[in-house]
Amino acid sequence: MRILLTNDDGINAPGLYVLEKIAAQLSDDIWICAPSEEQSGAGHSLTLTRPVRLRQHAPKRFSVTGTPTDAVTMGLRKVLPGPPDLILSGVNRGANLGDDVTYSGTVSAALEGALAGIRSIALSQVYSREDAGEDVSFAAAEAWGAKVLGPLLKAPFASRTLVNVNFPPLAAGDVRGIRVVRQGFHDYARGSLVESVDPRGFPYFWFGLHGIEHTPGRNTDLEAISEGFISVTPLHLDLTHEGSMTQLASQFAQ
Ligand code: MN
Repeated sequence: MRILLTNDDGINAPGLYVLEKIAAQLSDDIWICAPSEEQSGAGHSLTLTRPVRLRQHAPKRFSVTGTPTDAVTMGLRKVLPGPPDLILSGVNRGANLGDDVTYSGTVSAALEGALAGIRSIALSQVYSREDAGEDVSFAAAEAWGAKVLGPLLKAPFASRTLVNVNFPPLAAGDVRGIRVVRQGFHDYARGSLVESVDPRGFPYFWFGLHGIEHTPGRNTDLEAISEGFISVTPLHLDLTHEGSMTQLASQFAQ
């Protein structure tokens, strides 16, 4: 089984090494193509206005000076000798829950794989506020990764769908199990906004993701994580709101 790994935190991300350990339990034909720098928050963006460079670091290890979507595209079109059987994106440092998924480079890399017709799974390790920065533990992802992927490799995936997996911020032994749940929503408050002045005296602003409150909806990814479970959520790119179609069409009917 040929597997392509990527990670929106970049080619040197700790979570990518965790993912390599997980993937090594599934196959020995592992290819890596990841952004050269961190691309968290890049969403599904594709680099169109400048060239991207491809760099080889080891026999099956490559980086791209672009977005997670660029990296998957380059992997599929240029790097791999043929289509992979599986694309794994992660393990992201931090949650990709609820409406995070449209900002997420991790989920978008898997989405790109799903659009290419390849079984694609995004994996993210949630961390608690106290463990930010270098100290984020991937213990739950490392211990549970292969257990989650086993059934996901056997399950049928509908066309153009991917699966989004989040691991709770717990020691491996404290994880309560795995739940298949729907995508939730955060309350709308886009995290923190730091305002300060740069060394040359000009104001700057810096967005942060911490402090987004939410009341987890029933059977959502947010609820599963808050209760100590691993969340498994099938996603698709069709953002059409079916319930509004008839009503909206009637507004234009004459
Ligand atoms: Mn990231």
